[in-house]
Amino acid sequence: MDKETEYRQRPPSLLDLPFDAASSFMRGAAEGPAKIRSALKCDSSNMWTESGIDLGAEGAFHDSGYVQPGPLGGLDEMLELISEGARKVFDEGYAPVFLGGDHAVTYPAFTGLVERISPVSILHFDAHPDLYDKFEGDRLSHACPFARIMEEGLAKRLVQVGIRTTNGHQIEQAARFGVETITMKDPGAAEALSFNEPLYISFDVDALDPAFAPGVSHPEPGGLSTREVIRIIQSVKAPGFAGADLVEYNPSLDVRDITAMTCAKILKEILARFISG
Ligand code: MN
Ligand code: MN
Repeated sequence: MDKETEYRQRPPSLLDLPFDAASSFMRGAAEGPAKIRSALKCDSSNMWTESGIDLGAEGAFHDSGYVQPGPLGGLDEMLELISEGARKVFDEGYAPVFLGGDHAVTYPAFTGLVERISPVSILHFDAHPDLYDKFEGDRLSHACPFARIMEEGLAKRLVQVGIRTTNGHQIEQAARFGVETITMKDPGAAEALSFNEPLYISFDVDALDPAFAPGVSHPEPGGLSTREVIRIIQSVKAPGFAGADLVEYNPSLDVRDITAMTCAKILKEILARFISG
């Protein structure tokens, strides 16, 4: 199939990526997708988005199921399985919305997607830049996906929002790759973001303040509120949405499903943009 250069908006489809072998500190994110799906369907809320779209209506979004981790459990194997999953969803006519899993899934997911549609820019929500060349000897760690994406020139622009813990190495990496960093120290620029290419949203749940989302492996105080995140998602301008992921939710650390419900809420608002532009 030829690569699309002119993007026509596709309906979104969920694809679970229950992988967490690349987490540096704590496992558990592999249990995230199932919990987010139950929170999405929880009767304590409903399936309407704030913009008035009924996600419960027949065909509002598609379900592509999940990618089964391979028998070897290795990271090389993960790369191919996830990229293949991304290509498959696109080839079936949908824009993939991936549920992680840890942030290592973004590199293979995005790689598979840009084999079909390019150029694409990325809006990345995270407390951390995830730009390490390698972390504890591992180039596929969940601390590295955006170094891999940018060194291969896979994204036109990478804009990071919510950043509040970086270091000298990652500041150098950001400069090297031309990453646009919006830190929590000066978060205002995130309110007027505009892209000229189809957009990929990568949402690491720890971008949120731990008060709003305690169920993450690397809680970092001083983060975004749920409302600030929703406002950015609702207001970002782009000529279409090519894909998205929601990663790093760790149910084993959640408190009364607060984080699961928050993930489901943000997922709904992301799906709304895929449907209504
Ligand atoms: Mn991350
Ligand atoms: Mn993070």
